[in-house]
Amino acid sequence: MSSQAWINLAYLTASMLFIVAFKLMSGPRTAVRGNYLGAAGMAIAILAACFEQPVAASVAKNGIWPLALLAAFAAAGGGIGATMARRWPMTGMPQMVALLNGFGGAASMLVAAAELTSTHTIARFGEGTAQTAAQTSLGSWTQFGIAIGLACLIGSVTLTGSLVAFAKLQELPRFKKPWDDPNRQWFNLGLGIVVVLLLWAMFSNPQPLLFLLLVLVAAALGATLTLPIGGADMPVVICLLNSYSGLAAAAAGFVIDNSVLVIAGSLVGASGLILTAIMCKAMNRSLVGVLFGGLGTTATVDADEVYAGKIKAAETEELAMVLEQADRVVIVPGYGLAVAQAQHAVRELADVLEARGTTVEYAIHPVAGRMPGHMNVLLAEADIEYEKLREMDDINPTFPETDVAIVIGANDVVNPAARTDPNSPIAGMPILDVDKAQTVIVVKRSLSPGFAGIPNPLFAADNTLMYFADGKKALIDLTAAIARD
Ligand code: NDP
Repeated sequence: MSSQAWINLAYLTASMLFIVAFKLMSGPRTAVRGNYLGAAGMAIAILAACFEQPVAASVAKNGIWPLALLAAFAAAGGGIGATMARRWPMTGMPQMVALLNGFGGAASMLVAAAELTSTHTIARFGEGTAQTAAQTSLGSWTQFGIAIGLACLIGSVTLTGSLVAFAKLQELPRFKKPWDDPNRQWFNLGLGIVVVLLLWAMFSNPQPLLFLLLVLVAAALGATLTLPIGGADMPVVICLLNSYSGLAAAAAGFVIDNSVLVIAGSLVGASGLILTAIMCKAMNRSLVGVLFGGLGTTATVDADEVYAGKIKAAETEELAMVLEQADRVVIVPGYGLAVAQAQHAVRELADVLEARGTTVEYAIHPVAGRMPGHMNVLLAEADIEYEKLREMDDINPTFPETDVAIVIGANDVVNPAARTDPNSPIAGMPILDVDKAQTVIVVKRSLSPGFAGIPNPLFAADNTLMYFADGKKALIDLTAAIARD
């Protein structure tokens, strides 16, 4: 078998591993195995790529140095990745995912840049420019232009879009408020037109100068498209950027004629798009509305108006008594549960309640936390049975028959303003109807708002008791008080 046949076989094996990995990652029980398989597939793909013709030609010319250089960069990149993954706090995972999406886009754009200027490409198509088109097949030169233009465009948009998303998720002060300049749509339209013109020029004749211009304009567009998005719409954007990073990789795969990159990129691109559609449905938003609607985080109601004189704070013993009398309790986790790292404490509370004969279930909102599936991952860490986790549409009708709903570190996903205030930045977003439970216990440290930056009338409702404390400490104290009785 020729060496190219071996390489293709390795790529096929890697692609199959990616597909199986995706399947396994769709369930919490098999996700870890899926992750390992995906990593193994990637290792095989990287190794096989080291035997590709351009690398082999370079080794023949320069000796072992090109391989040593590849190994050094792989070790440096792998080392940085492993250190980041180990040190990065669990609550910061969404930011890390945003960064990794951005790096993926940047890598695809750089691959395209390298290919455009490499001697290998000149050998493939002749010495650049329109004259080349006459020397080689015009079709393949145009195809190359399309692939390189798309890798450059999508890669650059993904890079800056993801960096802005990172800054927003990190809640950096300058990025907290969405960019709400009334002329921003015209600005984006102008950038969009320039991008289309540059892309058109790249399609017919990819040149380094055009490439550079496209990088700059697309990078600006990535930032200006993401800056106006805020509040509850960020999950959709994160999924979309994830999809873009895959599409950029697929385009880069066409640029360097690498089948495994095309397959892996397409898998990420397609799954990201599916996730984007799921998130849009969960948020009751259209994708166009999210991208161009410019929904912001500006609060339309003053917090004092909502809360003044209406907040009922309760102590541990009182709340323990309320819980002891409940037949059915629904736990609603949110981002604060992740911050408090209270997943084990929540399980212990559920255990003591269940030991007393209480039915305990968990209500999972699709955008609770800061990344898709955040709450599922968190609760799975504490070995909470997956069957007890119920999705929003499934659990919402049961709230009127629920004795106590305990909201732990959740805010936007239980904010009734989404139903009642048409001017609210989260208007129309489906929420968990906890306000319909007999009693609502809200565990959080203060009255400060959630990610969308708006007050929550739930905290002032007649049937709500506020328990102001860190999530973990509150749960440990409640569990101890119930166990004592
Ligand atoms: P929110 O961000 O609305 O609220 C979190 C609450 O947790 C805060 O009000 C905070 O109040 C409380 N909190 C923080 N730390 C602690 C702690 N140690 N102990 C107890 N409470 C704590 O969270 P939700 O999960 O309700 O909503 C998610 C939001 O994030 C939505 O707006 C969603 O659109 C957005 N988002 C979601 C993404 C996703 O993919 N899931 C991605 C990006 C954004 P206090 O400080 O008073 O304690």
